[in-house]
Amino acid sequence: MRCPLLIHICSAGVLGLSTALVLSKHKHLNVTVVAKHMPGDYDIEYASPWAGANYFPVGKPGSNLQRFEKATWAELDRICREVPEAGIHYQVTRTFGRTKDAGTATGQWFEELTKEDAWFKDVVPNVRREHIIHVLIFVIARLYSLTCIFSYHYLHHKLIQQALD
Ligand SMILES: Cc1cc2nc3c(=O)[nH]c(=O)nc-3n(C[C@H](O)[C@H](O)[C@H](O)COP(=O)(O)OP(=O)(O)OC[C@H]3O[C@@H](n4cnc5c(N)ncnc54)[C@H](O)[C@@H]3O)c2cc1C
Repeated sequence: MRCPLLIHICSAGVLGLSTALVLSKHKHLNVTVVAKHMPGDYDIEYASPWAGANYFPVGKPGSNLQRFEKATWAELDRICREVPEAGIHYQVTRTFGRTKDAGTATGQWFEELTKEDAWFKDVVPNVRREHIIHVLIFVIARLYSLTCIFSYHYLHHKLIQQALD
């Protein structure tokens, strides 16, 4: 018999619990969540119970971040469709990129979101690129359907609670 692989996740926020949820589906993994704060706690160091979280794919093509973002979308999409009451919803999103920000730290961070040939156009639905003259500033905008996580609701939903049992 195969010994289970022991995994310890040191976080009980949106990221840690979503990771636990996905890994707990693998029978050969034994997942334990270890954290200073758990759902039900309130602390300035614990963002998820009182903050929102959006899915924004900013990873550069070929990077680990891009691979993680691609895999993450599949699970968020599944929850949106199959468990709509879990607190994750599709959200029509429009990102504006000012041409004068190209090359700056923020511009580089958000570059993928406004690129002509963004990798996620074949992953997330309804991706469209627009050129807009907005209050005399030329901006490149991208419209798409992403997801918005109502973190408080999500942390307390049975989907997550089952992963913690
Ligand atoms: C006011 C506000 C508004 C926001 N708005 C948005 C938004 O509109 N869109 C968006 O995408 N994002 C937004 N964010 C950011 C987003 O909410 C956070 O990035 C996200 O909730 C972080 O989740 P997390 O799981 O990484 O961390 P957290 O929810 O902070 O969880 C951290 C976990 O790690 C544990 N931990 C930390 N250190 C230790 C340790 N040393 N030992 C043991 N356990 C430890 C904690 O106890 C906790 O369980 C916002 C954040 C804030 C504060």
